[in-house]
Parts: sequence; C-alpha cells; structure tokens
Amino acid sequence: MQKTGKVRLPQGSTIALNLGFDFDSSSVWMESFGKTSPVYTSRGEYGAEVGVPRILNLLDKYHIKANFFVPGHTADTYPDVCREISAGGHEICHHGYVHEDPTELSYHEEENIIVKGLEALDRIGITPQGYRSPGFDFSPNTVELLQKYGFKYDSSLMGNDFYPYCPAPCIVHFDRGNEFGEPADIVEMPVSWYMDDFPHSEFVMTRTGMKPQSQVFEIWKSTLDYGADNIKDGVLNVTMHPQVIGRPHNIRMLEDFIIHAVSRGAYITTMMDIYERTEF
Ligand SMILES: [Zn+2]
Repeated sequence: MQKTGKVRLPQGSTIALNLGFDFDSSSVWMESFGKTSPVYTSRGEYGAEVGVPRILNLLDKYHIKANFFVPGHTADTYPDVCREISAGGHEICHHGYVHEDPTELSYHEEENIIVKGLEALDRIGITPQGYRSPGFDFSPNTVELLQKYGFKYDSSLMGNDFYPYCPAPCIVHFDRGNEFGEPADIVEMPVSWYMDDFPHSEFVMTRTGMKPQSQVFEIWKSTLDYGADNIKDGVLNVTMHPQVIGRPHNIRMLEDFIIHAVSRGAYITTMMDIYERTEF
C-alpha cells in the first residue's frame, strides 16, 4: 500500500492547489522533440518573452505564489526572466538541464545532468528543494539521486491524484506480479497528463493538441470540484507551460480556473508550502 500524506489546510479551505509552470523554453523542442530550427526555438522564446510576463501579471492580480520548474538551459538563456520570477516570491525547482528524458540514461549520465541543472540554478541564486522530471518520467536511479542531492520532494509521478505520497521503487515482471521496494524518503506531489496544458493544447506534428480551451477548463474544473467535494486534506497539482498557457485564449482560461478555484475554497500556494503542511 502507498504511504500517503495529508495536507494541513488553513481553516475554511477545501483543497490545496498548486499552479506549476514548466518553463522549458526551447529546451523541450531541442531535446524532447529533436528540433533546433528557428520556428521551434521561437516557440520557446515566446514562452520567455510573452508567456512568463503574462503569467506573472495574472498571479500578481490574484496574489498567488506558484512554482516554476526550470531546466538549467532556460536559466542560462534567460537569467533575468528567472530572477524576475524568483523576485516575485515564486518557487523555482529543478527540471533537468536540456529537458533530458532520464529513462535511458546511465546512473552517471543522469547524475551529471542533475549536477549541471543545480549549477545553472545556482548561477541565478537558486537552491531548489523540488524536482520535476522532464517529460514526467524516472529511471530506476532517479529516486536515489534525488535523495542523494537533498531534494525534499518530486512532482513527476502519477500514482495518486490528491494525496502526496512516498514513492516506492516498482520492479516490473512480465511473468508474475510486480514487486515494490521500501518507500523513499522524498515526498511525491502527483501529477497527471489530464491536468497538463501541453497535450491538450499544444500543436505538435503527428500528435493531437489545439483542443478548445473550454474543454480543458471542463476537465480541470471537474477535477478540482471532485477534490473540493470529496477529498479531505488533499492537493491538486496543475502543470502548465508558459509557451502554452501564455497564449491569449489559454491565459483567459487560466484566469477563469483561478476564479473558480477561489470560489470553491481552494488554498493556492507553492509546493514547498504544501510539502511543509504534509503529515504522514
Ligand atoms: Zn518540461
């Protein structure tokens, strides 16, 4: 059984809500999609130049502190944008160096990337407490490396929806049942592709995307409503990308979602705050 935690909510709140922005910039196109041509890199540029300022304005309007998961490559390309995010009181977390998928990496290769990301964030004055894997995946070594480098929490796995939990390594067998190891000493803040703007909205050749924002709003609203109505002491983590959610139709949808979440008594805060409120 999973070792799950409960989030101590401020009195009167129905659910904690984290707005997390994966500030991939061009790195997602360069590494995850193998695209380095000008149109692809300019989509990342849009995130930094247009998306982030719009997001920061919206967060300020509603006095919300959020999370930004920043690859080292983004920090090295847009240090001033990252400093502005940090100066706004938002939390910056580790998100790889050039958005590398860890699943095929050796222990040594993955460790080098974690160190490189830490060094890049250090150059903008950040010591991250949290990690999110680029593309939401782990290698068999990721949990051990996160513990080795002192991360308090991760936000990449999908083993729950409203409760933080301690991830246990799963050893996969095809000829018998899977085995689970001891729960790790880090806290998992679970995510899901449903609560992620990228697959719903972003156009990628041969994939879907470009869904009307009203459909995305319905999914996010229904999930939040379910949590507010049925879940006690839980949290909902929403994943967004400045180059996606920063588009005019999407940023308006995000504002509608924030207004709805506030009307349902959501306590909107950083992941570190949720971590500190989590009891096992
Ligand atoms: Zn990412």
